[in-house]
Amino acid sequence: MALLINELCVNCDVCEPVCPNKAIYQGESIYEIARERCTECVGHHEVPQCVEVCPVECIDVDVAQPETRGQLELKYRALMAEENAA
Ligand code: SF4
Ligand code: SF4
Repeated sequence: MALLINELCVNCDVCEPVCPNKAIYQGESIYEIARERCTECVGHHEVPQCVEVCPVECIDVDVAQPETRGQLELKYRALMAEENAA
């Protein structure tokens, strides 16, 4: 599942630079995660890096968007192919 930042976000900007997929950006009022770029850090790290650094624990899994580990790995490979082609 991609992750989702909830309304408790304090816009501290700590998570954005640690995302290996450049999935996090400043939204209209709080930080947001581009679902199509979030792999739960699969392919890069054992645990989601944004969750590790967030000081207010406001990053949840998006249960409305279930994805298997296999799907996350495919997403990771597609992102890497896109990066290598750039
Ligand atoms: Fe980025 Fe990983 Fe957080 Fe997803 S879980 S937004 S890939 S840091
Ligand atoms: Fe928001 Fe947490 Fe990211 Fe800070 S680390 S910008 S509080 S989601």
